[in-house]
Amino acid sequence: MKRLRLLILGGTSEANALARRLAKEPGVAPILSLAGVTEKTAPSPIPQRIGGFGGVEGLAAYLRAERIDTIVDATHPFAARMSANAVEAARATGTPLVVFTRPPWRPQQGDRWIEVQTMDEAVDALGPARKSVFLTQGRMQLAAFTRAPQHSYLVRAIDRPAEVDALSDCRLILARGPFALADELELMRKERIDVLVTKNSGGAATYPKIEASRMLGVPVVIVRRPKPPEAETLHALDDVMAWIAPHRAAP
Ligand code: NAP
Repeated sequence: MKRLRLLILGGTSEANALARRLAKEPGVAPILSLAGVTEKTAPSPIPQRIGGFGGVEGLAAYLRAERIDTIVDATHPFAARMSANAVEAARATGTPLVVFTRPPWRPQQGDRWIEVQTMDEAVDALGPARKSVFLTQGRMQLAAFTRAPQHSYLVRAIDRPAEVDALSDCRLILARGPFALADELELMRKERIDVLVTKNSGGAATYPKIEASRMLGVPVVIVRRPKPPEAETLHALDDVMAWIAPHRAAP
């Protein structure tokens, strides 16, 4: 039987969960693609490739060369360029594509959210008075905060961000989720956090910081998601497996 050659665009817990599930499927030959942005990648139960494809053209060439039958875009909701490239390359090569992502967080009663569109707007939302700011929005956008040196920053990231040195009053915690509510509460209390800055990533692994902020009455400056990719979007692993099934049956 011909095995379905399935490309997972990864870098998320959703992609890892799908990889674990597909590792047990004899009819599928999955490949997990990572950008290679974190120093240590989690061990993968399926073959991996690492690094950019070289834009839409590069990805289309890869799909043809590797005879990829289907794509599951399980990248992070803020990885907008990769998702847009995937939609275009899938169209150009006639490769079926589905997006597997987590729904965004929605504000609950008691949340004090300040929703912004960009990291620059997040900086403005902190205001002029000195605050103790918990930054959890990911590696690469710390530079935006250098124009607000009046604040004291606590940065949490997976790898040491180079831009951390540009922030004058800044401490770094290196950690990878999931995070527990009790730990988030303890950390935010101990550090006397006045405000949390985060992307609206969605998902359970990093939600406890939102819950902890609610319980402590701490405002959350939350960056809205970029425009979602124009493709069918699923939120549950079982639904992705159901989407894959008819492609497997195809000759
Ligand atoms: P991005 O801005 O959308 O992508 C930038 C470039 O990185 C893409 O054009 C592509 O290069 C390459 N790339 C991205 N994801 C790739 C993948 N899975 N496999 C191969 N190449 C990939 O993405 P980003 O925001 O920098 O995120 C990079 C990776 O980190 C993604 O895989 C994402 O799932 C993960 N991640 C991102 C965030 C976040 O907040 N942005 C959070 C957690 C995890 P080419 O154009 O050369 O193909």
